[in-house]
Amino acid sequence: MTFDYDLFVIGGGSGGVRAARIASAEGGAKVALAEESRMGGTCVIRGCVPKKLMVFASEMPEAVADARAYGWDASVGAFDWGRFRGALERELDRLEGAYRSTLLNAGVVIYDARAVVVDPHRVRLASGEEFSVKHILVATGGRPFVPEVPGGELAVTSNEMFHLPALPKRALVVGGGYIASEFACILRGLGVQVTMMYRGASILRGFDDEARGMVAGAMVAREIDIQCGVDVARLEKAAGGILAQGTDGRAQEFDLVMYATGRKPNSGGMGLEALGVGIGARGQVLVDEWSQTAVPSIYAVGDVTDRINLTPVAIREGHAFADTVFRGVPTKADHELVASAVFTQPELGSIGLSEQAAVGLNSAEGQRPIEIFSANFRPMRSLFAGRTEARVLMKLVVDQASQRVLGCHIVGPGAGEMIQLAAIAIKMGATKADFDRTVAVHPTVSEELVTMRKPVRVV
Ligand SMILES: Cc1cc2nc3c(=O)[nH]c(=O)nc-3n(C[C@H](O)[C@H](O)[C@H](O)COP(=O)(O)OP(=O)(O)OC[C@H]3O[C@@H](n4cnc5c(N)ncnc54)[C@H](O)[C@@H]3O)c2cc1C
Repeated sequence: MTFDYDLFVIGGGSGGVRAARIASAEGGAKVALAEESRMGGTCVIRGCVPKKLMVFASEMPEAVADARAYGWDASVGAFDWGRFRGALERELDRLEGAYRSTLLNAGVVIYDARAVVVDPHRVRLASGEEFSVKHILVATGGRPFVPEVPGGELAVTSNEMFHLPALPKRALVVGGGYIASEFACILRGLGVQVTMMYRGASILRGFDDEARGMVAGAMVAREIDIQCGVDVARLEKAAGGILAQGTDGRAQEFDLVMYATGRKPNSGGMGLEALGVGIGARGQVLVDEWSQTAVPSIYAVGDVTDRINLTPVAIREGHAFADTVFRGVPTKADHELVASAVFTQPELGSIGLSEQAAVGLNSAEGQRPIEIFSANFRPMRSLFAGRTEARVLMKLVVDQASQRVLGCHIVGPGAGEMIQLAAIAIKMGATKADFDRTVAVHPTVSEELVTMRKPVRVV
């Protein structure tokens, strides 16, 4: 049987674009991709990239203050949100164009339209046009949402944060995950008065307790009002802004309320369930380790599968799918030891087991003592600038028996960059002795990673 396309990719984000390019350019497949919004997806248009540019913008006042301490005659002046937003939009246009031309150069046919699945070998565009296809890749990502709360329509999500008409004076960020924490820091760095409301006990759940406690402490020192154990009960329009009533009975007024309490996979309304594709409780498309659904011709990668929701993971999954199905190189995406960074101020870089997870492993497996190495110090650069509260954490979680490094957690400037490099060693199975016989680079912050002699505790 002949098909219009060998592969039809639904979604032009991180996972979809990679899969389409590899299948076409390296696998020789006839490939089409449908994107209903802007090419590049969440990461490029409303996620990692614009967020990181906002992080850079928000770090400038501190850099200028440091410059003064280092003898420069420097002052910050006012922040022009409109000018920054314009530059940001131009950069996103450029990137979107680059993604589009990469696909076209790879021979991929692009449809700027929503697509749904009609049957295991048929897709339909919003225009009604249909194609017969040998394989379908669902790479439709996820979306933020505002939970059902009275007045919820007054709130925005991360999607809107890049297009605000003006910067607020007072902002409430609801949530305690990495996106909430990053936006709280961004807004604070840009001079906004920020409150965070999180119903859990402490922010950045899932990360190492010592590391996240340190980030939270530094955020409080920057005058971010972190309110834990409380949620928004209702939002109301008030004369001067939005009145947020907390579950603790307290009412506070803000100019902007941003929800970052989670994301949902974009699996609905696609015709998937009716065909027998499994959909999980969180709305995620259920796949096996080859990213294949219960319908053999339909695969899914990226956030829509809700495995590890990060861009490089979506890219790896898309690439592995294309290698397996179109290049004759069976490849499973590897979800072990994935490093990640939280771009708060200070940054948090993390890979592998947290101390708490290691303790859990210890008790689950009987006797498996874990050694904790940790250095907490004031880095030279900020200390000289008089920022005496700024601290750095370097932490290794080590299996006592094998001496293998199971986890690494870094808090401080450049933690994201540092964890990427530490991740190579840890992924290779480095032991503490391997770290120790690596001669330090001096004077750096990261040299502490190879100079921690004795465990601070064994758990
Ligand atoms: C604010 C924010 C910050 C983030 N920061 C980071 C970070 O620092 N590092 C990191 O690794 N990750 C980060 N992420 C996560 C990262 O953006 C995602 O993990 C990644 O984009 C997932 O890629 P994807 O291909 O699965 O989906 P997406 O990139 O979401 O792409 C899916 C695409 O499918 C399209 N689509 C949906 N339905 C249809 C349909 N029916 N027809 C046609 N098109 C459709 C959508 O419009 C979208 O363009 C961040 C996310 C957010 C929201």
